Amino acid sequence: MQHLSFSRLSLLDTCGLRFYFEYVQELPPEDPVPMYHARFGTLLHSLYESHALSQGGESYEELKMRYDQAYPELVGLFPSREEAVTFYKNGLRAIARFSRYVVSDVVASEREFIVEIAPGVPPVKGFIDRLLHTDDHGYMVADLKTGKVFNGRDRRKFRQLAIYSLACENLYGKPAASGYFDFVVHGERAWVDISEQDRGEARAWVTQKWEQIDREDFQPHYSPGFCRTYCPFRSRCPEFAAREAQRQSAPTRA
Ligand code: SF4
Repeated sequence: MQHLSFSRLSLLDTCGLRFYFEYVQELPPEDPVPMYHARFGTLLHSLYESHALSQGGESYEELKMRYDQAYPELVGLFPSREEAVTFYKNGLRAIARFSRYVVSDVVASEREFIVEIAPGVPPVKGFIDRLLHTDDHGYMVADLKTGKVFNGRDRRKFRQLAIYSLACENLYGKPAASGYFDFVVHGERAWVDISEQDRGEARAWVTQKWEQIDREDFQPHYSPGFCRTYCPFRSRCPEFAAREAQRQSAPTRA
């Protein structure tokens, strides 16, 4: 494996076997999974980035026009027209919010990075959604989220910002000392401080995950809701077959 990434390692945390199918065997997806969340997120990310690159020059109307041009391609991916309309309105609310952001402190958008974590561990590669700098607060990193709001200190999620902080140190000579998840659809921000200890924990987590890959420890983790809807390899998964058969043969309560 040439490089690691936060999303790959998070997937390993979620289910080792799915990680194995996707990144070790490099199989193409086999079972249908909903794509509308991801495509909606990609569209909003591109407009969010474009607004920062224009240094705030792009107006709500201009961003909305591009959103309206792109959105029809997504409509067929939603489970119902009502859901497509709900997401469309959520997207408009998000654009209305971030089109008003002051972006003069943004130093980079969608900044690609590759950062060494420890000797013998493949580097971590990724993109920082937004890197900011002010004299008072130094470097800050931000990640755009178009889904549900969560606690910024949630360990599993927070590691993403800690890795961005390491990447910032690599790129600019100083780590980001704080950052936030920008929940644009809900109009909330989860700010966090990022300490040296947090960066150390992120390094330790990546190293531990790499060791797991290296010893080929790819345990399945069955979770009915996730497996049935979101796993594109469920048809080839022996754990899924066994657990689904078990559930079907279990006596139902009267
Ligand atoms: S079906 Fe579930 S247990 Fe099997 S590989 Fe997919 S996510 Fe893992």
